[in-house]
Amino acid sequence: MRATTASSDLFASLTDDVIASTADTVPVATPSTGATLHELPCSNGDDVRDAVARARLAQLAWARAGFAERRRMLLRAHDLILERRELLLDLIQLESGKTRGQAFEEIFLAASVTRYNAVAARRVLRRHRRRSGIPGVVTTRVRYQPKGVAGVITPWNFALSLAALDVVPALAAGCAVVQKADEQGALSILALRRCFVDAGVPEALWAVVAGPPNEVGETLTDVADYLCFTGSTATGRMIAEKAGRRLVGASLELGGKNAIIVLDDVEPAEAARSTLHAAFSAMGQLCVSMERIYVERRIAGPFQRALVEQLRSAELGPALGSGADFGSLASEAQLERVQAHLDDAVAKGAIVLAGGRARPELGPWCFEPTVLTGVTPEMRVFAEETFGAVASLYLVGSDDEAVFAANSGEYGLNAAVLAGSGRRARRIADALQAGSVNINEGYRASFASVAAPMGGVKQSGLGRRNGPEGLLRFVDPVTVAAATGLLQLPRTAREYETRMPLLLALARALKALRRR
Ligand code: NAD
Repeated sequence: MRATTASSDLFASLTDDVIASTADTVPVATPSTGATLHELPCSNGDDVRDAVARARLAQLAWARAGFAERRRMLLRAHDLILERRELLLDLIQLESGKTRGQAFEEIFLAASVTRYNAVAARRVLRRHRRRSGIPGVVTTRVRYQPKGVAGVITPWNFALSLAALDVVPALAAGCAVVQKADEQGALSILALRRCFVDAGVPEALWAVVAGPPNEVGETLTDVADYLCFTGSTATGRMIAEKAGRRLVGASLELGGKNAIIVLDDVEPAEAARSTLHAAFSAMGQLCVSMERIYVERRIAGPFQRALVEQLRSAELGPALGSGADFGSLASEAQLERVQAHLDDAVAKGAIVLAGGRARPELGPWCFEPTVLTGVTPEMRVFAEETFGAVASLYLVGSDDEAVFAANSGEYGLNAAVLAGSGRRARRIADALQAGSVNINEGYRASFASVAAPMGGVKQSGLGRRNGPEGLLRFVDPVTVAAATGLLQLPRTAREYETRMPLLLALARALKALRRR
């Protein structure tokens, strides 16, 4: 196992930053051994309210600081993320059990999103003129008012990068953040936050709370000015109801049952390699991982053989470092969930094509990446999100059948097409119902495109992160329009009567000139 600079002293110093006045802690175990890695302090409702109050104060100065100052600090934080990568990689691996390659994807994404938002915020959010309703008579400008304190709630699976996807645009837009971190992943989040604090971002501007979701999470949803939630569709629905009652905005990044389509003009071994990465790179514990594989009949035999062969020769394990192809499931609860989905499918007649066994000799929650065939609608794995290590393979007879099958179900987060012909792939991509579609890649092409929106359709979410859309979540547009005095707008009945012909002529002229 690779030696790490992460130590219990470091963990204690990081968890000191959690806003928690109670003496309560919760033990957090590492997937590498199952032993307790550290004790995470628990916040209570008062801690959340205090953190929001302090963040609200800090936000006033942050909003006044302006784009240039914020950009300078965020770009410095970007550099610190890259400089501290080895420590961040160790923490991610220790907390999640994922491979170093996957951990690197998190860091790369966090740096990209920081750079994008630092640079793009001014262009997207600066005050600008809009075409006025009555040219010459009225001038119109729009400015963007930061919403205040964003409440960010994140899950355990991609703790560091998912934090960055919501926190950084909020900061770049001039907001403050109070984040409820999931227990597993809190160290990675706190170490990421340190990069920003050391770059000059005031401590109170990004506060981290942790602890029981029904107290800490719910208090945050009661008091924040905007809510960013990433997690299951069931919890997302509750957050949306609360936001609705309070009439505050919310972006919801929820579950998926993502489909990858393998067309019959691909090279089977290459397509199998891409499919396995798309399905199991984080042991399937990634919102955009593939759980349904639709392969065209003509290529199904060689594709299936390549899939099984590659899985048999893959290396599995939760050790620190770059050795393994696939890591571990993140927790005992995850192992139980995966086993339950698999047992249900097998009991109802599914066939295990590859994998299908727990591997406790490698790590307490290690499980072989599993591909099933013969999956039918009464099995849980058919339409329910497993969120770990199990994917189902289906044969389809045509492109249209593949699209129809991929679009079935209640989710619409991510989809992918593996194709030899770009034209055929794009035609299919245009017909898929998902917030992102990847061609000849599982998820990284869209995941890495931080200037483009990311989110879900159907039950996979509301709102978008990344791109201008991701920044615009955190501001209220304010229209400032002024009468120029060139022509007095009518105020009395007589004035309306005399000006009406002129205004009608103006409306006709604007249409003739094709002015909006
Ligand atoms: P979850 O909904 O159980 O928990 C997510 C977060 O919400 C955790 O921090 C949890 O403590 C908190 N929470 C739970 N109940 C709460 C409440 N009542 N009020 C406020 N906060 C509350 O989800 P999970 O099991 O931790 O994560 C896995 C799910 O997240 C999967 O469905 C996965 O697809 C989804 N996910 C989606 C995305 C995306 O971008 N769409 C990304 C990652 C994960």
